[in-house]
Amino acid sequence: MPLYEYEAKDPAKGCAKCRGGFTVMQSLKDDRLEKCPECGAPVYRVICAPGLAHSKTDLHYRAKRAGFHTLKRVNKGEYEKIY
Ligand SMILES: [Zn+2]
Repeated sequence: MPLYEYEAKDPAKGCAKCRGGFTVMQSLKDDRLEKCPECGAPVYRVICAPGLAHSKTDLHYRAKRAGFHTLKRVNKGEYEKIY
């Protein structure tokens, strides 16, 4: 079964599990998760390509998807806005 990566839409509201992203094994038929199973914070599915998930390009893409401005990841789960 494929692994999917999810991440909190708003890292400030997530728990330790979802703030930095987490992976779930799901079948293609399963509905995508909309909430973190730990804390219930809204999450979105990250398009997961192993090895690319933490590249800079992907990070910008993920930030855009999450509705942020361009963000720089300063620490695990912390973002800094760049204008
Ligand atoms: Zn959570």
